[in-house]
Amino acid sequence: TVGAVAVDSEGNVACATSTGGITAKRVGRVGDSPVIGCGAYADNDSGAVSCTGHGEAIMSVTLARTVTFNMEQGASAQAAADKSIAYMKQRVDGTGGVIVVSREGQTGVSFNTRRMPWAVVRDGTIRFGMNPGENFQNEF
Ligand code: ASP
Repeated sequence: TVGAVAVDSEGNVACATSTGGITAKRVGRVGDSPVIGCGAYADNDSGAVSCTGHGEAIMSVTLARTVTFNMEQGASAQAAADKSIAYMKQRVDGTGGVIVVSREGQTGVSFNTRRMPWAVVRDGTIRFGMNPGENFQNEF
């Protein structure tokens, strides 16, 4: 997957998700990525989400919409991301990851796969990581 989320200075949010699908997929399989609310979701009332991981599990729990729903209920972008990944694990034993930005510009990254390269760019600073717990920072 290549996914992106963005917010502008007026709180307009956007998401994008692109994928090659999963290894050995069946002909005609439609994964989560093009399904709104599953692999991607954006709503100016809460924020934007892009997902990666096991598409069937992601679709089972409508993962991207679950993240924005948790934000509507008051969770921060990071808390909503963590909560939704934990929910997918508990509900369907699913693995994957999400990147999130709220309309206020808070960001969240959560994954229960072994690795998920991610980056956050804001005001001349880039934060990035790949393995659990990594959070590097560079100015540019
Ligand atoms: N979510 C995609 C799929 O199941 C795989 C990926 O993470 O790129 O099709």
